[in-house]
Formats: sequence, C-alpha cells, structure tokens
Amino acid sequence: MTICSIVENISTDKPAIFRKKVLDWYDAHRRILPWRALKGEYPDPYRVWLSEVMLQQTTVQAVIKYFLKFTERWPDVHALAKADNDDVMSNWAGLGYYARARNLHKCAKIISNDYDGIFPSDQAALQKLPGIGDYTSAAIASIAFDNPANVVDGNVERVMARYHACRIAVPEGKKALKEYASLYADGFIKRTGDYAQALMDLGATICTPKSPACSLCPLNESCLGYAQGMPEIYPLRAPKKERPKRYGYVYHVTNVQGDVLIHKRLEKGLLGGMYGFPTSEWLEDEGGVEHLSLSENRIEWDANNTNITHVFTHFHLTLTLFSYVILDKRNIPLDYEWIDKAELQKLGIPTVFKKALKKFG
Ligand code: SF4
Repeated sequence: MTICSIVENISTDKPAIFRKKVLDWYDAHRRILPWRALKGEYPDPYRVWLSEVMLQQTTVQAVIKYFLKFTERWPDVHALAKADNDDVMSNWAGLGYYARARNLHKCAKIISNDYDGIFPSDQAALQKLPGIGDYTSAAIASIAFDNPANVVDGNVERVMARYHACRIAVPEGKKALKEYASLYADGFIKRTGDYAQALMDLGATICTPKSPACSLCPLNESCLGYAQGMPEIYPLRAPKKERPKRYGYVYHVTNVQGDVLIHKRLEKGLLGGMYGFPTSEWLEDEGGVEHLSLSENRIEWDANNTNITHVFTHFHLTLTLFSYVILDKRNIPLDYEWIDKAELQKLGIPTVFKKALKKFG
C-alpha cells in the first residue's frame, strides 16, 4: 500500500477476508429497496438499469418515488420505449439532470428495437448505449448479471478513503480510491452483485459522511482511518471553487382568456426538452441581460419585484419575475404554446420553474 499513510500495528485485510467480512455483514443488514431483488430472487435488468440511471447524482430517498411511478406506468423496457417523449420528460420533472431522461428514453428504444428487450451483460456493450458510462455499466454488469466489475460510487469512495486513510484529496484522489476498490473487486467471480451492493450499503448506513458508526462496522479492526481516531475527515477534499452566478428574467405571460404561455426548451442543453416559463438568456453579466421579446402587442410589464434563486451543478441562478398580458394570442413564436391555467398545475416542470410558479400564484 504505497499510496496512503499506514498506522503502526494496524494493517488492512487481505482482499478475500475484506470481502468475506463485507458480505457476511450484508447478509444480515442489506437494505430493502424497490429496485432490488430479494434474497434468492434474480434481479430484473430493466429495474437495475432504471434505478442506476435515476441514482446518478441523486439520493436514494429522492429516487424511490420516481422509480415507483415509472415502473407502475412503464413496467418493462418495451413499455417505456413506446412512451411519448413528453410524457417521459414530464414524469421525470423534479429529478433534475434532464439529459438523463432523454438518454433513458433513447436507450429504452434501442434495447426494445435492436436487442429484443434484452440488456447486454458486459460493460463494453453497455457503454455503447446512451446515458451509460463507466460507473453505470459496472453497476448493471455486476448487480443485474453478477459479472465481475469494480463498482465505485460516492459511498464506496468514502469507505475506501477511510479504510486506507487516503491522503490524496478528491477530486484528484478519486483515481487512487478506484484503485483501492479494485483490490477487492478484481479477480473475484462469486457474488459480485451482492458485494457491490454490500459496499454501497455499508457506506450509506454505517460509514456515513458525518458520523460513521465504526463500532458497528465489520471492518473496524483493520480500518486505518478508524485507528487514527478521526475517520470522518476522509475523503480529504480540495477547497471548493465558488460557483459562478448567472442572472436572467422569467415571465408569466397570459392572454385575455387567461391561458398561460409555456416554452418547450431545445432538446440539447440545460433542462433540454422540458416545458417551462419563457425566460431571457441567463448571463453572468447581470447588466447585460435583455428582455425576451415575444410580442409588441401587449399590456405593459408588471415588475413583480421578486426574485427566485436556484442552484445548478455549475452555477447559481437568480431570476427576476415579470408578468404581462399578450392581446393577440395568435402571434407567438414556434416552441411556445398556450396552456390552460389548471393544466399548468398538472404539467411536470423542472424545480426552478416550480419555484417561479409558486411566486406567480
Ligand atoms: S471502521 Fe468506521 S471509518 Fe472504517 S470503514 Fe468502518 S465505518 Fe468507515
């Protein structure tokens, strides 16, 4: 173990012992989750794939209700493939990272049409499909098909960082943590899916971010972070850069009948393919933001004098709210449409627009 510090008189377990401890613990303490096969059952690759795509950058707690909604509506990959794209996007609304939903639907169509509904079982083939990268392919290969793979999510990184007391700060240290995880994953062919889920469960329920329950952990006798006395400092983190700020306007536009104007965003880019209120461009230069020109034939701006804020992964957004009425409802640009006010409440829209809707009332 050359990458990280070693504590005197304590050494990490050999891989086979490490795995046995983790798997024994899992057999007694595994989490029951709606996408997981119960003990003795075979996992359904569709449910594994759907859950792993939803879980990218998203917590288990947030995913559960979406997973149940999707599987009730589209119980298998053929049903999802046949779904209307707007329907898929609007059912995804609120879960964020909307490129995932677009890729999910594309992938379902490919699996349904080109693979006869059967997911490939090896990582290389999985990675050719939309929305499936290194981590997701490893998770599907191991959990759905019990194929060997090094499955490293945030929970596994945390366990590895603490167990090895890794001194390399993330994000740079991620490579080292993956190498550590490979010590216990590579070369083993039995119960690979259980092992992947066991390590995730250990990170999620015992080796938690703030207060690890080390006294209950099956690895505590050989964990270097625990032996040092402050496991919670791992993984070490490089100082965060401040998120840039962006500014813009968001509009509540109605016609004289009281319908509300909504915009279908371009397929590519942030919130791509989703419905929302019309907005200006979102710029870092607050003074450079210009109003969106939808129609000259309108009753003047009503400046609500209200802002909403929303944090995206790469920037912090502040939108100022405006309302106005368009007198001639026919002259609206393409990609915009009128919607009945009652329907608007039912339409799945991203969280940033839900915040605006709440203010517009
Ligand atoms: S002993 Fe503590 S720090 Fe080490 S892996 Fe277990 S829970 Fe995490």
